[in-house]
Amino acid sequence: MAIKYFSHGACREVTGSKHFLEIDGRLLQIDCGMFQGRREESYQKNKQLPFDPRAVQALILTHAHFDHSGALPILVKNGYNGNIHSTSASRDIAQIILLDSAYIQKKDFEILQEKAAKYPERKLTAYEPLYSAEEAIQPLRHFVTSDYSRPFRPLDGVTAEFYDAGHILGSAMVHLAIGDRLCIGFSGDLGRRGLPIIRDPEIMPPMDYLVLEGTYGNRLHKSIGMAGEELADIIRKAHSRRSKIIIPAFTIERTQEIIYLIHVLQQEKKIPVLPIFIDSPMAVNATAIFKIHPECFDNEMLARFTTANIDPFGFDNIHYVVSAQESKEINNFSGPAIIISASGMAESGRILHHLSRHIENPDNIVAIVGFMAENTLGRRLVERAREIKIFGRAYKVKAEIATLNAFSAHADYAETCSWLKQHDLKRLKKVFLVHGEDDGLNNLQHELLGIGIPQVEIVNYGDSYELV
Ligand SMILES: [Zn+2]
Repeated sequence: MAIKYFSHGACREVTGSKHFLEIDGRLLQIDCGMFQGRREESYQKNKQLPFDPRAVQALILTHAHFDHSGALPILVKNGYNGNIHSTSASRDIAQIILLDSAYIQKKDFEILQEKAAKYPERKLTAYEPLYSAEEAIQPLRHFVTSDYSRPFRPLDGVTAEFYDAGHILGSAMVHLAIGDRLCIGFSGDLGRRGLPIIRDPEIMPPMDYLVLEGTYGNRLHKSIGMAGEELADIIRKAHSRRSKIIIPAFTIERTQEIIYLIHVLQQEKKIPVLPIFIDSPMAVNATAIFKIHPECFDNEMLARFTTANIDPFGFDNIHYVVSAQESKEINNFSGPAIIISASGMAESGRILHHLSRHIENPDNIVAIVGFMAENTLGRRLVERAREIKIFGRAYKVKAEIATLNAFSAHADYAETCSWLKQHDLKRLKKVFLVHGEDDGLNNLQHELLGIGIPQVEIVNYGDSYELV
């Protein structure tokens, strides 16, 4: 039996996850993420798949994040006709993410087309959407869902099993047993112990090879236990100043984590009760999905809320805002309040309206709770720019910027090593590193060799590795 492994994405970068096992000529794909980054470059990389989707027999999706699921419609559109295996929570979240992407691509295209017509001298290119809303729905017809620890057979002779990755709702690592020859693990994105709502990363059975992510391969996070305290501090501050807290947050996971933590802090009477506005239709949909997947919850979530029949995401002072009219009405609200809105990096969406309204008041607080990529408004805030531009107008940054560092859904290098050390490593021959930038991967390689992993290789795009 000949087994090869190669990757066509997330090699020395953090987007576009697409990994493959070739088992006696049959192709099994793990994840099908979209590349993100510079517009033109990522557009071309996403449009032209470097392989024939008709040759892929089966696909396993580790979790629903866009950089792991976003290219599924492109795969299906180009002839992929196999099953897409995932947990049921991942399927439900992927549905929201893919449809949202189709909508954003269409909007971007229309806006750029208009701009290009208005300013011909700027020679702007409007990139056609990579898929429509109808095409975003097609992959959903291919899903076959399995819960954690329910083995399934993606290909004849291959037994797969999901283990909780502790990263986002429904996230999984996958352990593959190929005949009685080899066991191979894929970490997907590895989460952290102690994240609110979801369980901690699980330990997989013994493996010969592991394909491991290294997003934060050179970083150490603050303990997640600090997140609640950091949040409580700013809420007390806003209450005493009678001011607003504005939180740009990703609509899936981070928004629910913050709601959950505020609910717990309120239950424990550690904070004053302020009105909370969740101003994002997508966050409303995502929160509904959390509610129907209690099988993914950790014991604290189950004991405190689910089995006590208390809605963790619904309480008297929380207001979910869907319509644009209701969103505008938040402006009329005087007194202290918390406003959570998207987009997560403050690049677009309703958060911009709230920032423009509140950023010039020194009593207000803008709380940064997520990773802010370069060249985003969120990053300008983290770097405490004195002035920012929103909708073409300049605003002085007078509000307090509070960066809450304890929030992160990816393990740092110490957490990754400690997770790996809990495995039975006797038969582990090699760890392949993906999904990280060079500095992070180099450091993680060094750390893993340091804990006795026999071989650690940083994966190059398209290189093929024989697994024996
Ligand atoms: Zn992820």
